[in-house]
Amino acid sequence: MKLTNLKGVGEKTEQYFSKLGVNSVEDLLEFYPRDYEQFFEPVSIPLAKEKNFAAISGVVMENPFVNKKGKITIVSAYIADESGQKIKATWFNMPYISSQLKRGTKLVFRGKIGHKYNASSLEQPKVYSPEKYKELLLTLQPIYHLTKGLSNNAVISAMKEACFFAGKEEDFIPAEIAKKYSLCDRKSMIMGLHFPLNKEEYIKARKRAAFEEIFVFLLTLKQLNINNNKQKSPYDIKKSSKTDEFLNNLPFELTNAQKNAFQEIRNDFESGFVMSRLVQGDVGSGKTIIALLAMLDVAYSGYQSALMVPTEVLAVQHYETILELFREQGINLKVSLLTGSMTAAEKKKEYEKIKSGEVSIIVGTHALIQEKVEYNNLAFVITDEQHRFGVKQRESLQNKGSLPHVLVMSATPIPRTLAIILYGDLDISVINELPAERLPIKNCVVGKDYRLRAYKFITDQVKMGHQAYVICPMVEYTEGVDAENVVEYAEKLKTNLPEGISVKYLHGKMKAAEKNEIMDEFSKGNLDVLVSTTVIEVGVNVKNATVMMIEDAQRFGLAALHQLRGRVGRGEHQSYCIMIDTNESENKDERLDVLNKSNDGFYIASEDLKQRGPGDVLGIRQSGDMRFKIADIYNDSALIKDAKEAVDLILDGFVKLDDKEKKLLDEKCKKTSESLLL
Ligand code: ADP
Ligand code: MG
Repeated sequence: MKLTNLKGVGEKTEQYFSKLGVNSVEDLLEFYPRDYEQFFEPVSIPLAKEKNFAAISGVVMENPFVNKKGKITIVSAYIADESGQKIKATWFNMPYISSQLKRGTKLVFRGKIGHKYNASSLEQPKVYSPEKYKELLLTLQPIYHLTKGLSNNAVISAMKEACFFAGKEEDFIPAEIAKKYSLCDRKSMIMGLHFPLNKEEYIKARKRAAFEEIFVFLLTLKQLNINNNKQKSPYDIKKSSKTDEFLNNLPFELTNAQKNAFQEIRNDFESGFVMSRLVQGDVGSGKTIIALLAMLDVAYSGYQSALMVPTEVLAVQHYETILELFREQGINLKVSLLTGSMTAAEKKKEYEKIKSGEVSIIVGTHALIQEKVEYNNLAFVITDEQHRFGVKQRESLQNKGSLPHVLVMSATPIPRTLAIILYGDLDISVINELPAERLPIKNCVVGKDYRLRAYKFITDQVKMGHQAYVICPMVEYTEGVDAENVVEYAEKLKTNLPEGISVKYLHGKMKAAEKNEIMDEFSKGNLDVLVSTTVIEVGVNVKNATVMMIEDAQRFGLAALHQLRGRVGRGEHQSYCIMIDTNESENKDERLDVLNKSNDGFYIASEDLKQRGPGDVLGIRQSGDMRFKIADIYNDSALIKDAKEAVDLILDGFVKLDDKEKKLLDEKCKKTSESLLL
């Protein structure tokens, strides 16, 4: 149903909603709040003065004062309550508020408590009648993602209208399943998520929503039958002594975890069955070399391998790393690079080499799965940073060969038991140790005023021969967004660092050739400081970089911050991560504290609680495959197990569905598979 069918929603509002990905009433109902505002009992003025935020129930002592300072109108009033104390409240540019503030009126004032000049005051409090406040008390008021032109209140009123249509369609969760797992119906779920009357209602609604998402996801995966179980492999891939020789000549020894992972891959090759394996290892644990070793065995057995990565920067880097290692060891296997930004002529040349079987290792981005690419005898496909790819893309790569062995590599730290469920039939190798030479990264979370010291620190590191990254959330100056951008920051940084220190910037909107050139310069050590957006977040490997400075760190998701930090500490040098928290409010960002205290991806992931939402606003995707709106792979592990059990009960015939239930569920899964296959 069109949004404009809702009372109060016109074409303008419809357009704003569309920016948020909401294009119908059905979409709107599933546009869940990113957070909730809670209304607590008012506190006495002396107690409020010790807090940063409070509600005070009091009486206006005198009619308010209205002052003008330039263009600003300031309304102020003194409030007294039963404690006998008073507090000053001020409002900027809200002259109309004074009509509500007649002397002697009893009201509830709710807002930030400022502590300036040794006195406490209420800053811009919202004002409620005692009756209205009583209604709100202990409710959870939804807070939605917004876009310019669309206020939270506008979303709320559209949502209230939309809620008339909630639960009108039939429920796709079979009755027996709903009963077995105590799930509420869909209407209660939608109401309970948008307008919970209390916490219990919210918890029930959330449980059903999370269950539903996971259940449908798992069932859809099953139906897609992505990892065809244990088929006979048409390829005869043998351990090669040349691979072993290459391994022995590496400048480092594999960690035990790496050795195990490689051994497991070799066992798969020799098993006679098609491999589908996930290698999971935290950032910097050394997954690339494992992939390369496996590709060597494949090449020496006479077949091709393809390694697909999510960004051009990473593709070029992997390609060059491989070429470099081959040069060092005099290996004459041929390697191809395929990326979207290559010219048609360049691509054509590579296509020919790939088709003829001249090259044995092909590295690239999505360009690897273009129709025009024909492989000669593709026996092995790898996707690096698999969370960045959709199931469909992975499958397309597989389909380029005939039953190739499949390896996916991921740095998303998920507990093993959950990984087994969520990744369906993948076998899993975990690399749970970092190379021994690594020193733990030293972290700090600091405010803006630390910047000059950070620049001094970077200068010192550069003088010692090292390099630094500085990350900003934005590409360029953007109206209405108060966050650092790489273009202006790079300029500013140049003037703040001594002459002779080179600074350049990198972002996703630049031309690929330009990006590659700068990345190349940086990885060769010819550039000292790289100011970048999160384009460098995945996989980039420059061992000599020792400083990661992140501006507006509070704007990033924890997972992204952990990935960014993973760009340093990749060699034997002591490395540092400086997170600048530019949040002015007094509430410190506890999430950053988690990163400050730990370098362990698993620990961070488990602490990675409510922060998926804000990350999405900045376009930072948190966990590709499992793009759940509500469910949280870390906190909902019990629900994941329940949902998995429910799926098995249905597929194994222990729970029988009637025709209607079957049809509804099939339709839902079909829709989900379309979005999964994006
Ligand atoms: P990730 O697991 O994040 O993809 P990489 O594969 O990029 O990590 O490896 C990070 C760096 O560690 C690379 O420079 C790689 O050469 C190096 N490395 C890999 N394994 C070892 C090891 N066992 N000992 C020392 N360095 C290693
Ligand atoms: Mg990597």
